[in-house]
Amino acid sequence: MADCLFCKIVNREIPSEIVYEDERILAFKDINPLAPVHVLIIPKQHTADLNETTAQDEALLGHLLAVAKDLAHTLGIAQTGYRVVTNVGKDGGQVIKHLHFHLLGGQPLGAKLG
Ligand code: 5GP
Ligand code: ZN
Repeated sequence: MADCLFCKIVNREIPSEIVYEDERILAFKDINPLAPVHVLIIPKQHTADLNETTAQDEALLGHLLAVAKDLAHTLGIAQTGYRVVTNVGKDGGQVIKHLHFHLLGGQPLGAKLG
C-alpha cells in the first residue's frame, strides 16, 4: 500500500533494524522501544489490522505468533517472560494501520493492559 509506513519498511524505502525475515513476515526493532526488547512482527502483505483478517489468514496469523515465540528465544527473553500484543483501532490505540504484533520483554511489564 503506497502510503503505508510499514509497507515502506517491507520495501526497504525506510530503513529499520530487521531481526527476522521470511517470505511472509518481517520483524524489526520498534523505533521507540517501551522495553529492553521491543520488536514489531508484521505480514509483508498489507492488512490494516486483526479485524481485516479472514479464515484464509489463519495460517499467517499462526505463523506470526510462532515467529514471536522463536524471536523470544533468539532475543533471550523466553525464560524470563514476555508479552505479545496487537492493537486494533481507536480504543486499542493503534497508530500504524498495518497489522503488527508487538513483542515486549527484558523487564517486568506489570499488570497493565497496554
Ligand atoms: P501501534 O500503536 O500502531 O500498535 O504501534 C506502532 C509502533 O510503531 C509504535 O510502537 C512505534 O514506536 C512504531 N513505529 C512508528 N514508526 C516507526 C518507524 O518508522 N520505524 C520503526 N521501527 N517503528 C516505528
Ligand atoms: Zn502496509
